[in-house]
Amino acid sequence: MPSAPMVVKDDPTLMFTNAGMNQFKDIILGNATPKCRRQADSQKCLRVSGKHNDLEEVGHDTYHHTMFEMLGNWSFGDYFKKEAISWAWEYIVDVLKIDPKDLYATVFEGSPEEGLTRDDEAAGIWEQFLPKDHIINGNKHDNFWEMGDTGPCGPCSEIHVDSRPEEEKAKVPGRELVNKDHPQVIEIWNLVFMQYNRKADGSLEGLPAKVIDTGMGFERLVRTLQGKTSNYDTDVFQPLIKVLGDLSGCKYGEDEKKDIAMRVVVDHLRAIAFAIADGQLPSNAKAGYVIRRILRRAVRYGYTFLGQKEAFIYKLVPTLVDEMGEAFPEIAAQQKLVMKVMQEEESSFLRTLENGIKLLQGVIDETKAAGKTEIAGDKAFTLFDTFGFPLDLTELICREQGLAVDEKGFDVCMQEQKNRARNAAEVKLGDWVVLSEAESEFVGYDNTEYPAHIVKYREVQQKKRTAYEVILDKTPFYGEMGGEVGDSGVLVSENEEIKVLDTKKENGLSIHIVDKLPEHPEAEFMACVDVERRRAIEANHTCTHLLDEALREVLGTHVEQKGSLVTADGLRFDFSHFEKVTPEQLREVEHIVNAKIREDIPLKEYRDYPIEKAKELGAIALFGEKYGDKVRVVQFGTSVEFCGGCHAQSTGRLGMVRITSESSIAAGVRRIEAITGKAVEETLDKMQDFMADLKGLLNNAPDLMATIQKAIAENKELQAQVDEFKAQKAQQLKQVLIEKAREVNGVKVIAGVLPMEAQHVKDIAFQLRGQFPEHLLVVIGSEAAGKPALTVSLSDDLVAEGKNAGQYVREAGKLIQGGGGGQPHFATAGGKNPEGLKAAVDKIVELAIG
Ligand code: ATP
Ligand code: MG
Repeated sequence: MPSAPMVVKDDPTLMFTNAGMNQFKDIILGNATPKCRRQADSQKCLRVSGKHNDLEEVGHDTYHHTMFEMLGNWSFGDYFKKEAISWAWEYIVDVLKIDPKDLYATVFEGSPEEGLTRDDEAAGIWEQFLPKDHIINGNKHDNFWEMGDTGPCGPCSEIHVDSRPEEEKAKVPGRELVNKDHPQVIEIWNLVFMQYNRKADGSLEGLPAKVIDTGMGFERLVRTLQGKTSNYDTDVFQPLIKVLGDLSGCKYGEDEKKDIAMRVVVDHLRAIAFAIADGQLPSNAKAGYVIRRILRRAVRYGYTFLGQKEAFIYKLVPTLVDEMGEAFPEIAAQQKLVMKVMQEEESSFLRTLENGIKLLQGVIDETKAAGKTEIAGDKAFTLFDTFGFPLDLTELICREQGLAVDEKGFDVCMQEQKNRARNAAEVKLGDWVVLSEAESEFVGYDNTEYPAHIVKYREVQQKKRTAYEVILDKTPFYGEMGGEVGDSGVLVSENEEIKVLDTKKENGLSIHIVDKLPEHPEAEFMACVDVERRRAIEANHTCTHLLDEALREVLGTHVEQKGSLVTADGLRFDFSHFEKVTPEQLREVEHIVNAKIREDIPLKEYRDYPIEKAKELGAIALFGEKYGDKVRVVQFGTSVEFCGGCHAQSTGRLGMVRITSESSIAAGVRRIEAITGKAVEETLDKMQDFMADLKGLLNNAPDLMATIQKAIAENKELQAQVDEFKAQKAQQLKQVLIEKAREVNGVKVIAGVLPMEAQHVKDIAFQLRGQFPEHLLVVIGSEAAGKPALTVSLSDDLVAEGKNAGQYVREAGKLIQGGGGGQPHFATAGGKNPEGLKAAVDKIVELAIG
């Protein structure tokens, strides 16, 4: 079985794959039948959130990673303990030649309160291979595995390797160091024996189909085989460390702090690159935010300890592709996109980091000024929370400046935030009320109505709201999946009608979210999908396929789908492309798709089709999507895609497509939004109505364009005439002012109030200054569109005497409820009260020469 994507899409309890068993959860829970009862795989895992979070260890120790490969073998109701243990032994001792004297096995010691005795069965099998003192009892914490509060569980048995030097082994026996966090005595393989089912009341019952689930860390195994004491010394990481060394000028192994930083960078690089390749871009929420935080942690270590002030981690991607691209082609195929996204994220965080440092400096200065020796915890928390500025970096910078950080206060803020998040996310699941053991089957590709029985139902509490969930034996309702929203509709029986508000898909199960619990759950129901809504969804889903193909035709084959949302109202399609799509290109894409719609190409569907044959058809697969051996392929002429969604019976059903927007959502990822069918009709109606209104405004002119152009030209000509008239009028008014001028104390005073824009007044004032270069005072109040203004100008000789126009306008500006200023020879003021203009003018004359 190939690795499932690292990003989890259909399990609300999990963001990332954190163990090999995740992709088999539907089988283990009994929601699906395995295609094969024995399987083996190597699974990309990420342990950075939830139940398994190793993030803070990574880099500081040498055997925990964020992303790692978990090798596993599986039995679904087939072989059990005996085979699992002896094959594990055969593999690591006979095949891989690990020295048996370095191996230890743990077995579950039993738990009286659970009524469970020691796993003597496992111990007995181990005794065939290992001396008794290499078999160690382990408690419930280490040696009893549970999927969750309820469900499959059972004892487990771990294999540990002691790789200390011989003289140390002689001093302290390895058995004393097992599960004691010793860096050289580590667990490499865990064999889980699922044999119980935990019920909601906490009790255990036997599991009918027992499951073997084993997980071995590939990186830890390699380190053992290559005789190293650190995962980072193996050829899994050395090539990356070498390139990082060349890039940063730091040598690995010389300085502990730098070593930690280098380990952090090469580890996180893998996690980030694979997450992006599996379709999870860094973002501000949920899984995207987790990835963003990992990247920021790496950038910060690089910044602080490796002196990297510019984006650098992305430069390691080609080396990663050389090392892992063969086993994981998704990373090779998307190298360019991964690098682009990482570079952009790194650069933007480095800018944030610099702003954070400035902010922190402000806090430090304030703290010092207040005579304190400690930065407040809430300040440090704000820096952490809003700027991704971690506490240890804040502490480091503060320490350099002789200050401490109130860690307790920080922890309080952190705890408060966690509580808030927990309360918001808390979900109380009621017990399933199980009516039958029937498997649930989706019949919605061919039906929108189907007779069905309820298999089970329950009540769910989230955020103080109650919802009800129903599972049917046969359902035409599509559960939200792969970007396509879930169906809504009704369940009708003889006795009642239940509304289906939404349908979701979880671990392979279609969950109908309904408005109430059934009163007669055992009755037969007619499950009826809201058909009109479904048809609109189908049309939009088919449209994404046609758009995908047309985009590749117009922009190039580098276009890869990076996400989509298909609803009844329209669609969103995200794809890799490195520049803006031009309006011409968008038009071309629309034309191609509309032509295909007019061709009315029928849907050709291949169900349960062998994946190899699907590939031969040239079907496009999505990165980050999990496919089994049998797939569904959806074909419309030359468009062939792997797809599990609902589609139009033929392209003609789409009616027409219109792209409504094009934008960027991340470096190298564009988004288009589009509508089809009725939504296009509505848009066209609106446009036509708008045009009709416009024509109406222009007296139903037959040639709208010519009429508008003529109006614009006329307007321009009229404006020119108005300007000329205004200029003429200004000249006239100026003449009047000059005629009315008076001499006061040897100064020519030209003053008055004019109905005119301030701009023209300014021109007049300057003309007057030119005309009368000496002993001149100009004071003009003006008003245009209700706004009063004052303009004052003085000849240079008066300025030399110490008179100041700026000072006068400031003083007199109050009379028009305004203010202003300027230079000694020329100043203006604007205001709100035109009534005060006359008084203001008189005031200035008085101030200047009174
Ligand atoms: P540990 O106690 O060392 O953290 P674990 O109990 O969390 O290990 P399991 O959940 O049993 O480990 O996972 C199975 C195997 O996966 C382990 O035996 C180990 O080889 C590997 N593994 C687990 N976590 C990591 C990690 N963070 N990085 C690398 N390998 C890991
Ligand atoms: Mg662990």
